[in-house]
Amino acid sequence: MARNDAPPQVDYDLVVLGGGSGGLAGALRAAAHGARVALLEPHEFGGTCVNRGCVPKKAMWLAADLASRITLAADLGFDTRPPALDWKELVAQRQRYIGNIHGIYRGLLEKAGVAWMPCRGRLVAADMVETDTGVRLKAGHVLVATGGQPLRPDIPGAELGGVSDDFFRLCAAPPRVAIVGGGYVAVELAGVLQALGSRVELFARGPRLLGDMDGEIVQQLQEDMRQHGVHLHLQAPVHALEAEGGRVRVLYKGAEGDAAAPDAFDSVLFATGRRPNTDGPAWKRWG
Ligand SMILES: Cc1cc2nc3c(=O)[nH]c(=O)nc-3n(C[C@H](O)[C@H](O)[C@H](O)COP(=O)(O)OP(=O)(O)OC[C@H]3O[C@@H](n4cnc5c(N)ncnc54)[C@H](O)[C@@H]3O)c2cc1C
Repeated sequence: MARNDAPPQVDYDLVVLGGGSGGLAGALRAAAHGARVALLEPHEFGGTCVNRGCVPKKAMWLAADLASRITLAADLGFDTRPPALDWKELVAQRQRYIGNIHGIYRGLLEKAGVAWMPCRGRLVAADMVETDTGVRLKAGHVLVATGGQPLRPDIPGAELGGVSDDFFRLCAAPPRVAIVGGGYVAVELAGVLQALGSRVELFARGPRLLGDMDGEIVQQLQEDMRQHGVHLHLQAPVHALEAEGGRVRVLYKGAEGDAAAPDAFDSVLFATGRRPNTDGPAWKRWG
């Protein structure tokens, strides 16, 4: 490359890749200690937690909790009617709230003097980051906080199912939903959808939900979920999905060998883990 064509280069003490929970915390803390910090984030601030995780999940949970309480109030004799939710309005309110968080983060970064760049970066050396806009940032330290994205399992028909990101795109409760997975995301999506009017069946491959958590608490949770109407299939690994007239059939291995849930589902959501955003193609998918 001719000398004059060399990409522009800027020096920082710390360059942070990713403006999610990890990247923002690292950038703001380092800046508070006087470091010269650059943060690269090609999308909205807040990453998974704010945009496709904790925050929108809690908004949906709040609505689900209210729906349960209104129903309970009617059972107890209050003059309330079964709740009718305007789901689109709920989503609009949720996204407004998330928009405020983006603004707050922008303000915090500006106040802290962090140079924010709306682009993606890649490591070209241990002390060098190149942005997708062609700028080279020389860095005393680099913090890779690029997060991850939900995984579909490698089974036939997996493309017929959605993932947690798709849950946040819903504009109504699907009448019948299958959730595949036994971790906290599966449990939360199942509870929220059941409370908001879906009939939910959850398929977990293990003998219990939330394998890392206290056994007695999980026993109680499973009992509560059943009482709320969630149909739990434990030790029921899903091995294929099949299309059936616009709906999806779930094939799984039950206690008595291969089985199919008797009815097809309007929606299937996988909560089967995540993969890191550390390779080119995966990062591009974010675009
Ligand atoms: C449905 C769901 C519910 C959850 N609920 C909770 C909860 O209630 N409580 C809780 O504590 N946690 C919860 N989590 C987990 C939480 O969201 C994550 O632990 C957290 O977001 C991880 O933060 P991070 O900064 O590591 O990554 P992320 O938040 O994923 O941020 C990574 C950022 O890096 C950016 N990026 C990617 N590649 C590049 C690149 N090359 N250059 C620059 N930037 C890049 C991305 O655009 C993204 O904004 C939930 C997750 C999900 C999916």
